[in-house]
Amino acid sequence: MFKKILIANRGEIACRVIKSCRRLGIQTVAVYSDADRDALHARMADEKVHVGAAASAESYLVMERIIDACKETGAEAVHPGYGFLSENAAFCQKLEAAGIAFIGPAPHAITSMGDKITSKKLAEAAGVNTVPGHTGVIEDADHAVKIAAEIGYPVMLKASAGGGGKGMRIAWDEAECRDGFERATNEARSSFGDDRVFVEKYIEEPRHIEIQVMADSHGNCVYLGERECSIQRRHQKVIEEAPSPFLDEATRQAMGEQAVALAKAVQYRSAGTVEFIVDKERNFYFLEMNTRLQVEHPVTELITGLDLVELMIRVAAGDKLPVTQDDIKLTGWAMESRVYAEDPFRDFMPSIGRLVRYHQPPESPHVRVDTGVHEGGEVSMYYDPMIAKLVTWGKDRNEAILHMQEALDRYHIRGVLHNISFLNALMAHPRFQEGRLSTNFIAEEYPEGFRPADVPREDPAHAILVAALVHRRYMDRAANISGQVAGYERQVHDDWTVLVEGVAHHVHVRPENGGYHVDYDDRQFAVQCDWQLGQPLFRVEIDDKTVWFQVERDGIRYRLFHRGAEIDALVLAPGIAHFQDLMPEKLPPDLSKFLLSPMPGLLVKVSVSEGQEVKAGEELAVIEAMKMENVLRAQQDGVVSKIVADAGASLSVDQAIMEFA
Ligand code: ADP
Repeated sequence: MFKKILIANRGEIACRVIKSCRRLGIQTVAVYSDADRDALHARMADEKVHVGAAASAESYLVMERIIDACKETGAEAVHPGYGFLSENAAFCQKLEAAGIAFIGPAPHAITSMGDKITSKKLAEAAGVNTVPGHTGVIEDADHAVKIAAEIGYPVMLKASAGGGGKGMRIAWDEAECRDGFERATNEARSSFGDDRVFVEKYIEEPRHIEIQVMADSHGNCVYLGERECSIQRRHQKVIEEAPSPFLDEATRQAMGEQAVALAKAVQYRSAGTVEFIVDKERNFYFLEMNTRLQVEHPVTELITGLDLVELMIRVAAGDKLPVTQDDIKLTGWAMESRVYAEDPFRDFMPSIGRLVRYHQPPESPHVRVDTGVHEGGEVSMYYDPMIAKLVTWGKDRNEAILHMQEALDRYHIRGVLHNISFLNALMAHPRFQEGRLSTNFIAEEYPEGFRPADVPREDPAHAILVAALVHRRYMDRAANISGQVAGYERQVHDDWTVLVEGVAHHVHVRPENGGYHVDYDDRQFAVQCDWQLGQPLFRVEIDDKTVWFQVERDGIRYRLFHRGAEIDALVLAPGIAHFQDLMPEKLPPDLSKFLLSPMPGLLVKVSVSEGQEVKAGEELAVIEAMKMENVLRAQQDGVVSKIVADAGASLSVDQAIMEFA
């Protein structure tokens, strides 16, 4: 067994690999960039080596630096995690030449599976179902149209070198096929430097279901069940689960056996994933094989009880697989949510910054959190803005969802925006709960994008009760601070008026049985809570049901967070509640005449000048953010009266760029 392993990665996956190494008594070496000096993975490892500047191309992707780091520290093997150098055959070869083991497959498996045309041909030869289509390179648009007519519309045009959802186009007719061919070809050339495109049938109402395989170098290979990853946003996974609510035992076995056949066809070693697309009749077709550990591997670990990283390390060291297919039992249900630093209400724009507050739900047999961040740490613009993977386990799907909902309620993140309300909305969505998934789920259910109104509204009773209770607790404390005014004893009311969204609720709260009795609107609640004043998380037992709220206080104003919803409440003594109606309402300023920056970024160009007339759709300005250029266009015809920000300025969210007449 290896004594020391270097992890050529960062973030949650580096931390996750370190954990398994520790358990196995293996020393760990982290590599880190300028931006990651203080990162969790660098803190957790036994040793750490600086490998360069913040940009990954100057650090995590520089093979020589990683190999030098192995030599400096005496690491005998490298775990690549996912992304970065994990599917780079040249890297494996260089390691091999330096006498360092690569914890992953052999280079030939990476190369043959890294190309969609080659892998599809290999899959066909191994008896794996592939999407009907043409596995040759398409010569030109006419050729694409001819083949599409043979396959039958709709079709999908795909870049052979594609990945990450790039270089893919759906076509429903001949015109779209011509256009799609040109676009896929251009995108493939500019993104991958390889413009080969092929065409296959577009599977309608597709589900993405993948099989985890694990193989050793002695010819043994097992499949560890499937993961369903149909909840995707622009071909990127958001929620993954295992098993799939759609598969029956026969289909699972058929898919598993085909996945193993493919792995064996390339003498596969280590962990790999064979991705399939499944249609509504449960026909399944091979998409691609990922020759690395995947982001969503924890769901498989939770239902198989296996540690995939440990198995990868063991087989890389030459061990035989310790399990056979008969040993693999799937128990219960696991669900994974990817918690991202992003603004779900602004088209999921990444949100970078410092994690001013970071408390994750405690781990238990039902909850696992894989993260690479810590409170006070930074989510930087250089890397993927994933904060954590929140994984839950239950004896069935329903229970896994309930655990996920509670864990999301208890996830306290401040300082950057995050997608917890979106994840909550997905968990509460009836169609999601019924398991009627498809890769188009998000696009179909949120056609206008995700908006605050899409956050499910629960019965506000609990929020009103919590606001009154929290307030009462603060008032009790204030009353107990004695000696402030001689001879005056402060009375705490039992009756309060809670204002939520302009509606007044009269709430009665009184201590009872070591807890509280609360009633309002003819509803009675028996409440227990052990909350300490000032804690951001408020746990309360309402009629024997545990409910979690996050609470922020500003005087008599409370902001409560629960199940993804944000509720503002004002708690007033009844005697003064009616004065609230007399308070002047503070209206938000009218900003409709301004062009505001929708994101933080660099104002690259102001495309219009003062006094200019613009038509709807005309380009107004260009902002660069997260290495992407975003064009801001006029929403309606108008006249530019004033330019307020100049090209070259760095903008914050909602900063004005220009004003219209
Ligand atoms: P990438 O390598 O870019 O991730 P994949 O081949 O894995 O590309 O496909 C990514 C996603 O695109 C799939 O999960 C599925 O949602 C969709 N997709 C790919 N091929 C098809 C197809 N033939 N029909 C329908 N959807 C497809």
